[in-house]
Amino acid sequence: MEWKGVRGTILENVPMKRYTSMKVGGPVRYLLYPVDEDDLKNTLQYLIHRNIPYRFLGNGTNVIVNDKGLNEALIRITRMKKKTYKRTKGGAVADVSGGMPLKQFIRDNAQRGLSGLENLYWIPGTVGGAIKMNAGSFGTSVSDPLLAMRVLNARGQIVTMTKHDGAFGYRASPVRPTECVLSARFSLKSRDKKEIAKDMEYVYGERKKRHPMEFPSAGSVFKEVKGEPAWKFVEKAGLKGLKVGSACVSEKHANFIVNLGSATANDVRTLVNTIKREVFEKTGVSLEEEVELWGFNG
Ligand SMILES: Cc1cc2nc3c(=O)[nH]c(=O)nc-3n(C[C@H](O)[C@H](O)[C@H](O)COP(=O)(O)OP(=O)(O)OC[C@H]3O[C@@H](n4cnc5c(N)ncnc54)[C@H](O)[C@@H]3O)c2cc1C
Repeated sequence: MEWKGVRGTILENVPMKRYTSMKVGGPVRYLLYPVDEDDLKNTLQYLIHRNIPYRFLGNGTNVIVNDKGLNEALIRITRMKKKTYKRTKGGAVADVSGGMPLKQFIRDNAQRGLSGLENLYWIPGTVGGAIKMNAGSFGTSVSDPLLAMRVLNARGQIVTMTKHDGAFGYRASPVRPTECVLSARFSLKSRDKKEIAKDMEYVYGERKKRHPMEFPSAGSVFKEVKGEPAWKFVEKAGLKGLKVGSACVSEKHANFIVNLGSATANDVRTLVNTIKREVFEKTGVSLEEEVELWGFNG
């Protein structure tokens, strides 16, 4: 296929196990890296005209792709990494590209003595992926200090949305699967650099203690249930250490499924379903996935 007018990198039939933190998943038909916003718009028009389904991929830290792969295009804006700060009375307003790693953004803020997102330190996604998921930890969600975002919609238009234009909730955002978060504007507060660094160290230390960071995973598999963490129910059902193939319910944190080496997406999917069934039978609670399962069809 000739990609007229598209300037970015086009990869074909690349295995998603290379592009997701769970390290499972078959080939995707196209993996596209636009170089800038105009290129992204052209790429999108191109896909729409040819009826090629598409999605946006950040760092792939919250998705599990089917072993058969996807007959579609995944667009990554991870080459777009701009960031500007405008000083205000009590801090700064920061504009940051959706493709920027969240971790890097939080570090850059810290170096400037700007606070607001340090509780999310070490979440391995991009800013765009974090906004889509309304990622959060240690009591802070990415939407808390968010002021506005620029979104490319499925008609190829760039719209600016304030935080209050759409409903952000627990792991929920107004961003649709066909929309791309191009950039986000955050309100950050001035704070002592040492205090910020101390909080980031604490958050990192707690994550290392609680999370099985030594194995590939996609973070928390299930959402909280009425404010109660899902791991409690998985643990109560006695499922820690349960394995399907090389996919295993982490011994360290029962809401993580880890890849012990050669897990397939099917292993992960079967384990997810087994946990849901067992937890329901033993505790009466219905768990809902926080991770996104792509290409499994029901
Ligand atoms: C070890 C580990 C720890 C984790 N800890 C946490 C945690 O504490 N809290 C938490 O909330 N999550 C956590 N996660 C999950 C994950 O990191 C977050 O959900 C993260 O925000 C996903 O970002 P991503 O760029 O990897 O998105 P992806 O996984 O690539 O995609 C996730 C979703 O976002 C969409 N998306 C990606 N980029 C864009 C964009 N620019 N515009 C529009 N949509 C986009 C995708 O289409 C998909 O729907 C953890 C994951 C791991 C592996």
